[in-house]
Amino acid sequence: MSQRFQSYIDGRWIAGADSAADENPSDLGSPVGEYGSLNAAQVNEAIAAAAQAQRAWGLSSPQQRADALDFVGSEILARKEELGRLLAQEEGKTLPESIGEAARAGQIFKFFAGEALRIPGEKLASTRPGVDVEITREPVGVVGIIAPWNFPLAIPAWKIAPALAYGNAVVFKPAEIVPGCAWALAEILSRAGLPAGVFNLAIGSGRVVGQALVENRGIDALSFTGSVPTGNRLLKQAAERGLKIQLEMGGKNPLVVLADADLDKAVEIAVNGAYFSTGQRCTASSRLIVEAPVYDEFIARTRKRLQQIKVGNALAQGVDIGPVASRSQLETDLSYLEIARSEGAELLHGGELLELDTPGHYLSPALIAAQPQHRIAREEVFGPVAAVLRADDYEHALALANDTEFGLCAGIATTSLKYATHFKRHAQAGMVMVNLPTAGVDPHVPFGGRKASSYGPREQGRYAVEFYTTVKTAYTSA
Ligand code: NAD
Repeated sequence: MSQRFQSYIDGRWIAGADSAADENPSDLGSPVGEYGSLNAAQVNEAIAAAAQAQRAWGLSSPQQRADALDFVGSEILARKEELGRLLAQEEGKTLPESIGEAARAGQIFKFFAGEALRIPGEKLASTRPGVDVEITREPVGVVGIIAPWNFPLAIPAWKIAPALAYGNAVVFKPAEIVPGCAWALAEILSRAGLPAGVFNLAIGSGRVVGQALVENRGIDALSFTGSVPTGNRLLKQAAERGLKIQLEMGGKNPLVVLADADLDKAVEIAVNGAYFSTGQRCTASSRLIVEAPVYDEFIARTRKRLQQIKVGNALAQGVDIGPVASRSQLETDLSYLEIARSEGAELLHGGELLELDTPGHYLSPALIAAQPQHRIAREEVFGPVAAVLRADDYEHALALANDTEFGLCAGIATTSLKYATHFKRHAQAGMVMVNLPTAGVDPHVPFGGRKASSYGPREQGRYAVEFYTTVKTAYTSA
C-alpha cells in the first residue's frame, strides 16, 4: 500500500478528507504516495492550537528551543541521503542536488539553534536622568508559513527554524505537489520535544488552507514564498487586516557576460545558473546578457556545453537535469516556448519533450536569442529556458540587467575589478554575484530581493530576527 502523508495538528496526525496522488515527475507510473487535504475548519483548529501553545513557548527557555532545533538539524543531517531521495522522487531535482538541499535544511536548523541563544537586545541611558531604556525582542505570536514546491525542504526550514527559535508557534502550509517532504519534516519536528500545538502542518490547497491562514485573525504574521500573483493577492488581504507579511516571489535574473570574462567559466556559470535544478529556482539566470564582441562565441560554446547535458530520471546516476516538476509547470514552459516563437525570438537549442525509459515531464534545456521587449526576456518562466540578449557595451548591459520589474539576483562574469565593483553598486537586486551563478546562496546570510521580487524584511541569517520578532522599548526609573 502506498504511503499516506498526513497533516499534524496539536500533536496529532490528521489524515485529511479526500485522497490525491503524490506524483513522481521522473516516473509518472510510480507515485511517491498519497495525501489528503484539510478543510478550513481543520486549519482554524490548527491556528487555535498554535495560539494556545505559543503563550508558554514564547516564555520557554532559549536552551529548550535551541535543543529542539539542534535535534531537528542533527537528524536531517544524519538522514540527508534518505530525505534527499524522497525530495528527488517528489520534486524531480537530481539526487546530488536533493541531498545537498536536505543538508542545507539541516544546517539551517543548526544555525537557528544557535540564534535562539543569541536573541539580540540593547540597553541605553535615557535622555532623562535616573532612567534606563531597554530594547528587547519578543515573539510575534503565531506565524503562518506558505511555501512553494521548488525547495521543499530548504524553504520550509528557513522559515520554520527562525519562527521557532524566537518563540513563535507555526502553522505550515506546503505546496500541493510536495506533501511528502513536508510530512518528513513534520515527523522529525514531532519528536523534537516541542509542546503540542507549537508546530502544525496543514496540507491542502492554496484556495482553502492558504486562504484560511491569511483570513484567520489568530495568525499574527505570514511568511510567503511563491509566485508574484499569489503574493500580491496575499499582500492586499494582509493590508486590509493589518497582518505582518513577508513575501519572496519571482525573478528574471540577469547574468551579464562581458568581453573580458573567462569565457569557459562564464559558460559554466550560465549553464549552472540557468538550467540546473531544471531552471526551477527563483534565482535562476533566465536572462543572459552578453557583450557584442563575445556574443557569437558565447553562444557557440554554450550550445556545445548544452549538448553534453544529460536530462533524465532524478534518481539515475550521471543525470545533470531532472524532469520539470509537474504537468502544469511543463505546460507553462511549453507555452512560453510558443510565445517566444510567435514573437520572433530564435530557438538556438533544445526546448524538446524527451521520451525516456520512465515516463516523465522531460524537457531539454532551451536557449533562445531574444530582444529586450520579448516576453521570454521579461517574464519568469520557471523552467529550463533562458533568453540571451546582445549588449553593445558594459553600460548597455547594465541598463538591460536593470530593465525588469524584478530584482532578486543579478550576476556578472568579468575579469575587470572596475566593472565588477560598478555592477555590485548599481545592479538593482537584493543579491549580486561576481563570477558565480546567480543561483546558489549561503544559508547564514540574508536572502531576498527588491522591486516586484520581494516585500518585507529579509529571510535567513541574523536578519531573520526582524520578521519573526517584535520590538519592545521599556523605561525604568529606579
Ligand atoms: P504559487 O504562488 O503558485 O504557490 C506558492 C504557495 O502559495 C503554494 O503553497 C500554494 O498552494 C499557495 N497558494 C496558492 N494560491 C493561494 C491563495 N489564493 N492563497 C494562499 N495561498 C495560496 O508558486 P509556486 O508555483 O509554488 O512556486 C513558484 C514560484 O515561487 C516562482 O515564481 C518562484 O520564483 C517563486 N519562488 C521564490 C523564491 C524566493 O525566495 N524569492 C524562492 C522559491 C520560489
